[in-house]
Amino acid sequence: MARGLVDGYQRRVDYLRLSVTDRCNLRCTYCMPAGGFRFLPHEDILRYEELLRLVRITVRLGIRKVRVTGGEPLVRKGILLFLERLCAVPQVEDVSLTTNGVLLESMAGDLWAAGVRRLNVSLDTLDPEKFATITGVDAFHAVWRGLHAALDYGFSPVKINVVAMKGINDDEIENLAGLTLTYPFHVRFIELMPFRPDSYEERYVPSDVVVKKIARLGPLIPGSSGNGNGPARYYEFPGAPGKIGFISPMSRHFCSTCNRLRITAEGSLRTCLFADRDVDLRGPLRHGSSDEEISRVISRAIETKPEKHRLNEGSVPRRKCLARPMTTIGG
Ligand code: SAM
Ligand code: SF4
Repeated sequence: MARGLVDGYQRRVDYLRLSVTDRCNLRCTYCMPAGGFRFLPHEDILRYEELLRLVRITVRLGIRKVRVTGGEPLVRKGILLFLERLCAVPQVEDVSLTTNGVLLESMAGDLWAAGVRRLNVSLDTLDPEKFATITGVDAFHAVWRGLHAALDYGFSPVKINVVAMKGINDDEIENLAGLTLTYPFHVRFIELMPFRPDSYEERYVPSDVVVKKIARLGPLIPGSSGNGNGPARYYEFPGAPGKIGFISPMSRHFCSTCNRLRITAEGSLRTCLFADRDVDLRGPLRHGSSDEEISRVISRAIETKPEKHRLNEGSVPRRKCLARPMTTIGG
């Protein structure tokens, strides 16, 4: 019986976010650095075998849920077989995937067959032209078809992640929330995080502003995601098939209940999305450490998981927190 991973603030850590690649087929303005960035050399990215070994080790420590992310996980060759093997790891109770949805239409059936049942799809706009402006690629219709393919196969829930941005998509908040009146999507509005400090201040929209806009559509009643406690606060319109969530890392951080651990594509362990240091697992993996030794490295890192992020504490802590772009960490 795993004793469970408990950090220095008595938070039980049972959720692993595993980034399988830093590559992506989109170039979202809020995620990728303005000047572009250099992808990791292939040999630095963990092989699937190495990722699975880390999953087995963390499961023995108490991890029960794994979310696969990136970069864009669906662009990595062999991802379906990897997911199938991940779903088969005993004691992994839940495998989910975060994707931009561009390849979803053609892959939804195989993802289902691999054992994945829950999907998060990022979509910030319902306007195809704006989609191309935000992401650099004309792929709105592909994502939209992918979302419907996911519903048709029975994925549940299918969550839509919307990063709310002033002057970009804040005029669409009601329309995006209105999707829940027709479809069983969980539409979740995420506060912009300052990975691109150049445009952050002018783009940031607090969740309270988003809530007020949506409340104009009708009364919202508090709801739940139906799959445990995550960082989102959920609401719904009475009788609507879908739900609306708010994720507020900036205005109302949820650090006190954070149950997450992150492993980046090159095998760095991060106990906080905004940590200013990583713990290297690739070295030990590739230089003969035993599972027990790697396990000790992970446990020691969890003990020092920060109490909370420091993004709101001024520019120096913020710069340290954001030394790496989101796409390399795995959102
Ligand atoms: N490519 C996949 C996708 O877009 O869903 C998975 C990786 S992406 C880094 C994971 C999530 O991070 C997406 O929902 C994206 O919207 C979110 N994200 C990226 N940069 C962000 C930022 N600056 N603020 C808030 N969310 C961000
Ligand atoms: Fe790619 Fe996802 Fe980042 Fe957009 S948010 S650039 S889709 S990793």
